[in-house]
Amino acid sequence: MASADLIFCSRYPFTKQAKDYVSESGLELTSTLVEKAEARVNNALVTGKVKRVAELPDAREEELAIYAGARMIVSSANNRYIISRYAVAEAKRAGEYLAGDDAANNGHVELVASEFGVRFEKKGKDYLVPLSAYLPFTPRSMDYKLTNRELENGFVLVSRHERIRMMEEAVKKKIEGSLPIRAQFSEDITEAGKRMLALIPKLEVATVSVGQENYPPCIKKMLEDLALSINLPHTARVALGIYLVSAGVTTDKIVDYFRHAPDFSEKTTRYQVEHLRSHKYNMPSCSTMDSYGVCIADCRCGTPLRYRDAINGARLRRLAAEKKE
Ligand code: SF4
Repeated sequence: MASADLIFCSRYPFTKQAKDYVSESGLELTSTLVEKAEARVNNALVTGKVKRVAELPDAREEELAIYAGARMIVSSANNRYIISRYAVAEAKRAGEYLAGDDAANNGHVELVASEFGVRFEKKGKDYLVPLSAYLPFTPRSMDYKLTNRELENGFVLVSRHERIRMMEEAVKKKIEGSLPIRAQFSEDITEAGKRMLALIPKLEVATVSVGQENYPPCIKKMLEDLALSINLPHTARVALGIYLVSAGVTTDKIVDYFRHAPDFSEKTTRYQVEHLRSHKYNMPSCSTMDSYGVCIADCRCGTPLRYRDAINGARLRRLAAEKKE
């Protein structure tokens, strides 16, 4: 295979070309490479990122073997949280390469898009993409809702940045959908998988705030989604921000909650949280939360802010009734 193709495969190891390269070249997973594969998964889980390595000729083949090893380790751990977090981190890595290739090597971007059966047509500075390809690969955000988009004869107009974001979403779904691999793994892989499982409590502790046990189910679910790097729609982010500000959570802590969001930007998040704080927005009612698609229980409290009182009230009424009996 030409070295230019090997560059493509090492940057985008989830593609068919990369898989074919690995099976044709018979790459071996040595114990050193397993260690590197474990470091890749560890980094993805702890920092939400997969480090890009210097693209030296020897490192490119190694990168493919490390990716294969990382997938085995994640499969051996066989845990949805790990799979989801790992897939998001790999997708971000691909997104960084795609952004670079978008300027310097557009052929790579088109090849990755074709992996998902998508063809973007250039239109001025933007791109047209068929609706059938747009719908499955758009992030969960109000910005991508069709009502907010320009449509042209069954095509949707997307910017260069949105084109990359769509492909990141496609990569995430592809990796998530392809894991776990069902196979018998060597001992060093299964041991590495166990070490990854042992990381979960630490990762969860990092996202739990004091008093969070009193948060209503909708808020807990949104925080869990963020911890798993699952994108929240814009309306849900605003509602979560208003709730946390009202609950007395500091801006630093709120920014930390959003840190794992796939499109996180510290500057924008901080600005938006401060904006919510200074404008003292009202918390949406439970029925409005329901219309946003984020209400997940029937707490009968009117607004998530009254959840704690409603639960305590119900508990007191239950205790009083038990006393009477
Ligand atoms: S009923 Fe209200 S507090 Fe409970 S999950 Fe739904 S929106 Fe949240």
